[in-house]
Amino acid sequence: MPEIADRLKNVTVSASVAMTQKARDLAAQGIDVVALSTGEPDFPTPPHAIEAAYAAARAGDTRYPPTDGTPALRKAIQLKFKRDNQLDYDVSQILTAGGAKQIIFNAILATINPGDEVVIPTPSWISYADIVKFAGGVPVALPCTQENGFKPLPADLDAAITDKTKWLLLNYPSNPSGSVASQAELHALGEVLLRHPQVWIMTDDIYEHLIYDDVRFYTLAQVEPRLVDRVLTVNGVSKAWSMTGWRLGFCGGPAPLIKAMSNVNTQNSGGVCTLTQAAAVAVLEGPQDLLQERARIYRQRRDYVLDRLTSIDGLRCHKPQGAFYLFVNIAGYIGKTSAGGRLITNDADFVLALIEEQHVVTVQGAAYGMSPFIRLSYATSMERLETGCDRIAAFCGGCV
Ligand code: PLP
Repeated sequence: MPEIADRLKNVTVSASVAMTQKARDLAAQGIDVVALSTGEPDFPTPPHAIEAAYAAARAGDTRYPPTDGTPALRKAIQLKFKRDNQLDYDVSQILTAGGAKQIIFNAILATINPGDEVVIPTPSWISYADIVKFAGGVPVALPCTQENGFKPLPADLDAAITDKTKWLLLNYPSNPSGSVASQAELHALGEVLLRHPQVWIMTDDIYEHLIYDDVRFYTLAQVEPRLVDRVLTVNGVSKAWSMTGWRLGFCGGPAPLIKAMSNVNTQNSGGVCTLTQAAAVAVLEGPQDLLQERARIYRQRRDYVLDRLTSIDGLRCHKPQGAFYLFVNIAGYIGKTSAGGRLITNDADFVLALIEEQHVVTVQGAAYGMSPFIRLSYATSMERLETGCDRIAAFCGGCV
């Protein structure tokens, strides 16, 4: 058979996708599975987004889109950055693509030469490292301890940056830890970055609106305006507006970078579906109160699951302030044997035994660059969360 390209050899299949597929396979066999592996909201897309897409289709808005985004959408994004983040981007500094994932992909592809390094505070969303590898770059994990809330210390960031560093990728609220960087923490990282002018900084703010307690969301370009010429502020409609299937991400950034990314866009997609763009205008310009309402529900779920899991012997969990994930330390179970007879030597063993014996699907921390942890998503109903917690408690109780 003809060969697949070398550039794909080091790129992995996302473990959360693999685990979600496992959940589907078990469910197809008639097994009652509790899937706590998915990274998407369980709420529906708001009706006014659907209406806007329908109206656009009926009005004949079905031709090739402008590659960078329709004027209406780029204006709506400009408004969003100003309203939510106090960032003043010119429309020419705004770009759209098929999801935040494609924005990130285009940014990396537009800037990375072979061997360039990308610093990634870890644990992190696994796609970052894979996208960097795909582009011929070198992902450099910057370990962030549970004790420091899974956030990087400025001195560690300073030490991780070399003359080969091209990017630093920041993601708050974080997938998988749910950590949120405070204004002061971003400021301290900004001080370090000011000393390294060769580094671009990407802030992946996709979970911006999923934030709890009294915590306020800040993004780096807002906190440190002296970095604005080097920061790409990334966002999208997937998580905030339950629009994962519509595929729309967007960003604001320095014009030369946006221009380069736009060139990539013209060759790899030609722009986002026109109906999606119309739907995105509707949510970005429409009423925003739904965001708070949904955040309130996520917070209740977080409190419930956190409470249940921290009462289980041997599990340690930091309190996430955003996103919809818990990143649970399972060190207390390494070396134990599950009721079904599996020796737990690492977090992947724990995850597999939990699936096989209790039909609860989570993802191993190794997939996010940090072990021994499991990531579980609470973007599902309270009823499923209760069942999931009962089963996790039974699983842990059965380990000896
Ligand atoms: N960034 C992070 C941190 C994510 O967790 C995800 C999805 O899981 C994305 C980006 C992708 O978002 P989108 O659906 O806009 O491509």
